[in-house]
Amino acid sequence: MRVAVISDIHGNLHALESVLSALEPHSPEEIWCLGDLVGYGPRPNECVALVAQQTSICLVGNHDLGVLGRIDLAEFSPDAEAGARWTRSVLSPENRVILESLPSSAETPHGAAQLFHASPRDPVWEYVLSAQAARDALEATSAPLVLVGHSHVPLAIRPKGRGVAGGIAPGGFEVELEGRWLLNPGSVGQPRDGDPRAAVLLLDLERRFAKFHRVAYPIERTQRELREHGLPEPLALRLEHGM
Ligand code: ZN
Repeated sequence: MRVAVISDIHGNLHALESVLSALEPHSPEEIWCLGDLVGYGPRPNECVALVAQQTSICLVGNHDLGVLGRIDLAEFSPDAEAGARWTRSVLSPENRVILESLPSSAETPHGAAQLFHASPRDPVWEYVLSAQAARDALEATSAPLVLVGHSHVPLAIRPKGRGVAGGIAPGGFEVELEGRWLLNPGSVGQPRDGDPRAAVLLLDLERRFAKFHRVAYPIERTQRELREHGLPEPLALRLEHGM
């Protein structure tokens, strides 16, 4: 089965639409989303509706839960809190119901992959960015493939001896999925690895192959929408730097 994995869309509709268009020639049989459909970005309703329509697995993330009132916004940075409060004020009742229905972790039917928004031991908050956190995530799971989002940094990490090998996976990076792997597709709507293009991961579960892709999108359109809604200026500026 060919699968596209997306994560951390954060209400950035132009990034999401560009990724979905770029996926068309690859014709993935399924799209999986690792959460944070909203928060930060200016088009939350369109993003929730589109992701719900397009994905066969979709997780909830910490920003989604913050918008729903199920996480205290005092735990967010000031700009993230401002984004979550604004999103809460515009989220439609239908989209609230969709977000309320999502789990923070999932497993594929035949155990090929385990999916978490953040990490296995804390599916909502823990960032898997250190070698120790990656090792712990692999030890807490059993599926050959473990997928996490949340950090907005694309990663390809495998166990090696008592530690791990691998690290940041730039656009174009390819992985032969021998043994076990921990992969983070990176973020569609707010990349933080210095590449401002939207991130998406393509998996071929039969051929045991993965490829990280980056997709250019009209960043200035999302920036304009952020400014029109009076959202914090750093949220607009960071998009052009991919940080
Ligand atoms: Zn996020």
